Amino acid sequence: MRDLLGGKGAGLAEMTRLDLPVPPGFTITTRACNAYTRTGRFPPGMWKQVEEGLSAVEAKGGRKFGDPANPLLVSVRSGAKLSMPGMMDTVLNLGLTDATVEALATSANERFAWDAYRRLIAMFGRIVKDINGHRFETVLERHKEKASANKDTDLGVPELKAIVAEFKDLYRREVGEDFPQDPIHQLRESVAAVFRSWNGKRAVDYRTFNKIPHHLGTAANVQMMVFGNMGPDSGTGVAFTRNQVTGAKELYGEYLPNAQGEDVVAGIRTPLKIAELRDDQPELYATLLRVGELLENHFREVQDIEFTVERGKLWMLQTRAAKPPARATVRIALDMVREGLISKEEALLRVEPDHVIHLLLPQFDDKAKSEAKKSGRFLARGLNASPGAAMGIVAFDPDEAEKLGRDERKPVILVRVETSPDDVHGVLHSKGVLTARGGATSHAAVVTRGLGIPCVAGCEEIQVDYDAAEFRVGDKVVRRGESLSIDGSTGEVFAGAIRTIEPDFDREVELQNLLAWADEVRSLQVWANADYPRDAARARKFGAQGIGLDRTEHMFMETDRLPIVHEMILAAPEYRKVKRQREALAKQLETATNDRRRDLEARVAEVDSRLEDLSRRYVGSLDHLGRMQREDFVGILREMAGLPVIIRLIDPPLHEFLPRYETLLVQVTKLRIAREDPEAFVRAATSEEDRTLIAEVRKAGSDLAKGIESLLPRKERLLEAVKGSRETNPMLGLRGCRLGIMFPEITEMQVRAIFEAACRLKKEGVDVRPEIMIPLVGLPEELRIERHALEDEAKKVMEREGISVAYKFGTMIEIPRAALVADAIAHHAEFFSFGTNDLTQTTMGYSRDDAEPKFLLDYVEQGILPHNPFQTIDRDGVGQLMRMCVQKGRKVRRDLEVGICGEHGGDPRSIAFCHEIGLNYVSCSPFRVPVARLAAAHAKLRQEAPRAKDR
Ligand code: PEP
Ligand code: MG
Repeated sequence: MRDLLGGKGAGLAEMTRLDLPVPPGFTITTRACNAYTRTGRFPPGMWKQVEEGLSAVEAKGGRKFGDPANPLLVSVRSGAKLSMPGMMDTVLNLGLTDATVEALATSANERFAWDAYRRLIAMFGRIVKDINGHRFETVLERHKEKASANKDTDLGVPELKAIVAEFKDLYRREVGEDFPQDPIHQLRESVAAVFRSWNGKRAVDYRTFNKIPHHLGTAANVQMMVFGNMGPDSGTGVAFTRNQVTGAKELYGEYLPNAQGEDVVAGIRTPLKIAELRDDQPELYATLLRVGELLENHFREVQDIEFTVERGKLWMLQTRAAKPPARATVRIALDMVREGLISKEEALLRVEPDHVIHLLLPQFDDKAKSEAKKSGRFLARGLNASPGAAMGIVAFDPDEAEKLGRDERKPVILVRVETSPDDVHGVLHSKGVLTARGGATSHAAVVTRGLGIPCVAGCEEIQVDYDAAEFRVGDKVVRRGESLSIDGSTGEVFAGAIRTIEPDFDREVELQNLLAWADEVRSLQVWANADYPRDAARARKFGAQGIGLDRTEHMFMETDRLPIVHEMILAAPEYRKVKRQREALAKQLETATNDRRRDLEARVAEVDSRLEDLSRRYVGSLDHLGRMQREDFVGILREMAGLPVIIRLIDPPLHEFLPRYETLLVQVTKLRIAREDPEAFVRAATSEEDRTLIAEVRKAGSDLAKGIESLLPRKERLLEAVKGSRETNPMLGLRGCRLGIMFPEITEMQVRAIFEAACRLKKEGVDVRPEIMIPLVGLPEELRIERHALEDEAKKVMEREGISVAYKFGTMIEIPRAALVADAIAHHAEFFSFGTNDLTQTTMGYSRDDAEPKFLLDYVEQGILPHNPFQTIDRDGVGQLMRMCVQKGRKVRRDLEVGICGEHGGDPRSIAFCHEIGLNYVSCSPFRVPVARLAAAHAKLRQEAPRAKDR
């Protein structure tokens, strides 16, 4: 139904069926809109149906459209299948003309009638005829000033009549014809304008951002007008059936007495909290409560309702599923299960992975906040309209916010008096929004909550001055470009930046309850990528069931280890060369006699002495590193006691551990020049790089000259080594298992360290489950060789320690060839783990570092690619390889354990795919573990009931 009638139309139809007080009306379908978009005309027969619908409305309302005695007024409101709050257009008060306004003035009241007429002309002019809305506002403001009226409601009949006359002149000047006096003509043009607003800039931006398909179209709802601005017993409001911040079961929203609907949403006046109605108008409050409950029970979802009270009578104008922010969504889902309204499975599907991400986003550190308060940086408190902490630089202009946020990737806080649908492009690219006016259901609040962007609204203490590009709070001034922090959970606003802290998972009790249900449902396990014991501890707390990737090379990168790693890398190639020479000489010696033998023996002695020196450097530094790695492994294996830990042997090319060639070249050149006049070098130093180099020089010798003499040869040696190991395409060069084959001492050292750690822990009674993983295998032979050498090493350690440890041996699948020959590879592997970062690079032929900044994002924008394949698995290509690989691998080894450890392991859509092809687990960063637990449950539930719901 929503496909055709849109969300609003479907809601109105349902409310009518439920016998709720809905103003009579009808809905023109999205199909008509799509036909209009295609041809620029209404489809044949549509208008006749509109006229029939209108007659029915006239009959129900007891008034006639355009009748100068008893006129019916109608609205035309947009409403798409998926909610796009405020992104499309609506025209109200249609049917008012010079003739009918008089009738309305007699039957209702004069002031009200002329006020409605001036609103219609402005709205029709702006929306249907594209007249700049400021033109109308300027006229209105001028009259307000002249009449010393503070508010619109202070304007009297004579002023309103004068305004109508001026609006009509303005209309004529801008459009070149009179404001239409034929109501049917007004209606026709308004329906067309509403259809056109589907493709307005803000609607298109919003859909692109929210990945809403562009072909859906909007419906147009034609409905009898009811008026909230007919005096103190009238009013208009927006209410949610549960609190949108906490999720508590209570009416939440706002009410504006004596006002029309847009006044609430536009945030023009700050309204009353709906809770205040409980005392002020208890009957209305009770009715709303009853209607809210009825709707919630009917739809089994929290409802977001709009209503108007016309002279004491409640009219329902809209109901739709609310989109509460993360914390409220989780609580509501759990509460509704407790209340017996929905099942656990439905509750799980109500919470999106993005909600979980949001709950685990950094928050302001309370200590930093109180320090900021002490130092006078607290500025004001507004309404906590959309939760979360945001920090950024201030922009007042939505265009600027978009430019800074999207193009320059800077964090921006958009500050506005209030936001309107025309500001959405700026909101989309801001980290947070601060408004001076408007309540919890103002435009800013509704849009940011939907987007998960923190917002403080209605912060009335701030005085925004767009012209000066600044805002003031008392004598404090915050200017454009300065930094600002807002806390959308508390409503606080601070000047400057505030430190954030990681969220406390222990305190997220509701989320943990929900995730426990997810665990009952899902079949895919969730592991984590963690390199250090502290990451492993966090992952475990978040619910990880194993470590899917421990990248051991990260342990090499620590500053205290780098000098040893350098020593090892510098000696490695030479060591290999000399060792080969020694082996060749030994072979020759076997058959040599007399002089030749003496000659060879002398050379052996010489080679041995070189080998001894190199071995001291190479094997010595490896031993040193080995001892350090052993302690690393003890830490991580202990932390993960009872769970599998996949340790991947060294992967990156060795030169990644060395300084960059270009940096070294510059340094060596500078040092060579500095030799001539060290003092001059120091005097001329301006850059950060120069200062770092001088610090190194000072450390290397007692004075500058000695420092240079000591440092320069070392840098020259390093430069030579880097030059020798540089590669044109390092991603495809000497790395992964190729390193282990060329320099077996390195991977042997790692395996020794793993098994020494495992044996030690096992002796202590710790349940250790190491799994050794070889990266970048493409040939089965590579894995066979590695496995053979490394298992030998493992066995030696276990023999020496007198204890055996259960382990697995496996490989990453990260180049297409490995996937193609997975059956042959499975002979040598107990497990596979998809390294989809590399597998995507090698399958697509993209280097990620080059592709993302140069063309990939454009490809996505232009629709050449559906999404960034480094974030979401490219199902058709990479995915096909994965599917085939799993099948081939399991043909050879039925119990083959298969997982994924590329970044896709934390992406909900990719997780669904992993579930589909039968992986055992996904492995992702620790913070993603809760998200993955939910996404894995979703994958299972959706697979079981693919078309369960028209969501
Ligand atoms: C991968 O390629 O997906 C992977 C996990 O390895 P890395 O990112 O370390 O290359
Ligand atoms: Mg990789």
